Amino acid sequence: MKTSDPRSALWFSTAAPAPETPPLQGDRRADACIVGAGFTGLSAALHLAEAGVDAVVVEAEHPGFGASGRNHGQVVPAYSKHNPEDMVARFGKERGEALNRWVQDSAALVFELIRRHGIDCDAVQNGWLMPAHNAARLAVARAKHDQWAARGAAVDFLDKDKTAELTGSPHYIGAWMHRGGGNIQPLGYARGLARAAQKAGAAIHAASPALAVERSGGRWRVKTPGGTVTADKVVLATNAYGGDLWPALAKSIVPVRLFQSATLPLSDNIARSILPQGHSISDSRRVLWSFRKDRFGRLVSGAAPVFTHDIRGSVTRLVTGHIQSVFPQVDEVKLEHIWDGRIAVTTDRLPHLHELAEGLYAGLGYSGRGIAMATGMGKVLAARVRGTPLAELPVPAFPVRPLPLHALSIPIARLTIAWQRWQDRG
Ligand SMILES: Cc1cc2nc3c(=O)[nH]c(=O)nc-3n(C[C@H](O)[C@H](O)[C@H](O)COP(=O)(O)OP(=O)(O)OC[C@H]3O[C@@H](n4cnc5c(N)ncnc54)[C@H](O)[C@@H]3O)c2cc1C
Repeated sequence: MKTSDPRSALWFSTAAPAPETPPLQGDRRADACIVGAGFTGLSAALHLAEAGVDAVVVEAEHPGFGASGRNHGQVVPAYSKHNPEDMVARFGKERGEALNRWVQDSAALVFELIRRHGIDCDAVQNGWLMPAHNAARLAVARAKHDQWAARGAAVDFLDKDKTAELTGSPHYIGAWMHRGGGNIQPLGYARGLARAAQKAGAAIHAASPALAVERSGGRWRVKTPGGTVTADKVVLATNAYGGDLWPALAKSIVPVRLFQSATLPLSDNIARSILPQGHSISDSRRVLWSFRKDRFGRLVSGAAPVFTHDIRGSVTRLVTGHIQSVFPQVDEVKLEHIWDGRIAVTTDRLPHLHELAEGLYAGLGYSGRGIAMATGMGKVLAARVRGTPLAELPVPAFPVRPLPLHALSIPIARLTIAWQRWQDRG
């Protein structure tokens, strides 16, 4: 099976069952039509349906088919690249701090939805760590800690011993930790959001790719092979899987393929020695490494980009070497699952909210940090659909800017990643 087949992902074999989501048959009216059933689209549908809006989701494959069902499962209330003060410098104090609060609250939103809707997805909210392997990267982690701490976030700065205690690894010299973060079984979360949205009154149609989104008589018509949804408002929530549906949107992001892997369940004593309290970690390297365990004691590693034809061989070599340097107690690494998914990277590494035309919105580009932010973006999109003015939303809206020479963006991204990996050595 190819690593891009969603069934390769560990989560596909351990998720709670999917709800019934029959394909769209025939033509129907709706207040809002959402294209794409990942975290962005499902959260938008849930928040709209809870507010009494008649919402219909059309999904090309099945809920969680895209990045939402294949990711590492770390719920992180922080930017991947930026610090809070960068936002103030860019957007001014009021808008910058509103965005910081939104990012900071996004993980709480995920865990609150999981609790409120009883979503079966192995949720653990006991903290997320960014450990550092050298002094320069520790300074990066320190700045993040200090800036979030100044905003009242539930963060700690850990010395080498405490980091070793929480990670089970002698590899790191310190870490910053956000106690509001944690981890989930991502496909289970996507399916649970879908079920909650249906319960609240939304319709979800799988195997119903939007073939065109067109303006017609003051409304939008979303055409699928089996029927059409005519809606006042449309949300495009297709992230890096949107193809040519709205070409300018596809050209505004760089799709990057990330690989994940999971070992066979570790023996009990080894599993207990790694991340013993169930934390998850994304280290502070420029090309970061992430680790977590699943509920059966598998060690899940990500998110490695590799650029060879021998994908399984390359991922196995890369992951085996890294696991053994970080967790020397694992003497033999046996990978059971290797899979990949696509993230949407923006050039400014910020999530993008767009108003593409009157009544047509999009939210995408979480640059690899989208469990919390995509869930939060769905809520923001729902508020916009319901008429909240753009100026009152916590996320600034950007015009869509297709990248010049977009075709070159993937080779450029590969070169950048290779350069950053070289800088990370040592
Ligand atoms: C390997 C990997 C590891 C990651 N790890 C983490 C992590 O640990 N923590 C974190 O916060 N983030 C992580 N991310 C990022 C996170 O998964 C994404 O940012 C998030 O899932 C994006 O959600 P989304 O709903 O916007 O997009 P997606 O989940 O990609 O959903 C888009 C959906 O749109 C559908 N679609 C596309 N075109 C059409 C069409 N024409 N008609 C109908 N449907 C269509 C697709 O089938 C798909 O289901 C990771 C991503 C990957 C790939």
